Amino acid sequence: MMKLKLEPDSEQLKVLCLGAHSDDIEIGCGGTILQLLRTQRNVFIWWIVFSATGKRGVEALQSANLFLQDAAGKEIVTKEFRDGFFPYMGEAIKDYCEELKHAICPDLIFTHFRKDLHQDHRLISELTWNTFRDHYILEYEILKYDGDLGSPNLFVHLDRAIAEQKIKHIRGCFKSQASRSWFSEETFSALLRLRGVETNATDGYAEAFYARKTNLSFCGSPR
Ligand SMILES: [Zn+2]
Repeated sequence: MMKLKLEPDSEQLKVLCLGAHSDDIEIGCGGTILQLLRTQRNVFIWWIVFSATGKRGVEALQSANLFLQDAAGKEIVTKEFRDGFFPYMGEAIKDYCEELKHAICPDLIFTHFRKDLHQDHRLISELTWNTFRDHYILEYEILKYDGDLGSPNLFVHLDRAIAEQKIKHIRGCFKSQASRSWFSEETFSALLRLRGVETNATDGYAEAFYARKTNLSFCGSPR
């Protein structure tokens, strides 16, 4: 299948990653970020975690720094909004998003899936679209008990080494989650393999996204 290739408007590709909780960005699009940083020289990444308190906050910072070690530039922000209560403190979170809108201008944004069944995830997704109205937004998926996986429409093929690196980083950084039944190499690998099968990934691994709006253009001058 022919592939769409990323072409930033300027020399530097500016990426914004939004995650409700400490490990969401890594689980949802960590492989894509690693793949992006391996193939693009000049990438600046804003990495914002809305709920990262105590030990989870320390883990979030450690992990973000590990995932972004090859970025040309980065800004990591951890906030302390109350886990599980985002819809009930929407005003404060929206105020923060309004601040962001005036402070940064990303080319590409990764955020939660609009139909994610976790209330915190869903609110961040809604506010992303409210806030950034002329930006390319990709929604990532998080495997969970609620069972809200759907049929994504955009895939990023991952090299086997990148897939393994993603899982190793996540399991190494978020020790506080180790006792959770789903926090295992098997489940992370399973979803990557499943999406890899759906898109004929060369190494068999892929991350998947929902691209609700994509503008298609063609390279070259008019003939
Ligand atoms: Zn989460």
